[in-house]
Amino acid sequence: MRIAVSCVQGAFAEHEKMLRNLGAEVVELRKKEDLDQSFDGIILPGGESTVQGKLLQDLKMLEPLKEKIRKGLPVLATCAGLILLAEHISNDDHVYFATLPVTVRRNAYGRQAESFYTEGSFGPYEKIPMEFIRAPYVERVSDDVEVLSVTDGNITGVRYKNQIAVSFHPELCCDTRLHEMFLGLCSS
Ligand code: GLN
Repeated sequence: MRIAVSCVQGAFAEHEKMLRNLGAEVVELRKKEDLDQSFDGIILPGGESTVQGKLLQDLKMLEPLKEKIRKGLPVLATCAGLILLAEHISNDDHVYFATLPVTVRRNAYGRQAESFYTEGSFGPYEKIPMEFIRAPYVERVSDDVEVLSVTDGNITGVRYKNQIAVSFHPELCCDTRLHEMFLGLCSS
């Protein structure tokens, strides 16, 4: 299986390592021509959503990727990636892919608790390690969005059709279940 990883900025190397450990081939997306390769799914990593959004736009990758996601390409988005997918960002005027019918709040945990670690259930799985780093959370979801995780009363993981998006960083730990779930979606 070939999985593309957006490599314009952020924590992409950790996702790549996780994918290779699970036997997937990695396609790095750094420029528009990289989109000509074939791939079965895409990962949008954490980092800085404003920087990633601007770079994807400037590199002319935003629209073609949005089209692929709209047409059903499986996507796993983590942290800044969730912000890029969201249809609405409550504390930002921008939207980017806007393919995921949710409202997110950037840097939602504020300065006091901007980074923390916890474990929680995620869909069918128990005790998933969850590393939050200046994370967003989901404030509102449309009816057809499945909520996969709730942390301290806030939605931190969702699925909508071909899109899985989480507030936290599943790639920073040794637990591979979330990536396996995603690869399952890519092979179905
Ligand atoms: N705070 C970042 C943003 O708004 C997201 C942080 C992350 O991806 N760890 O883009």
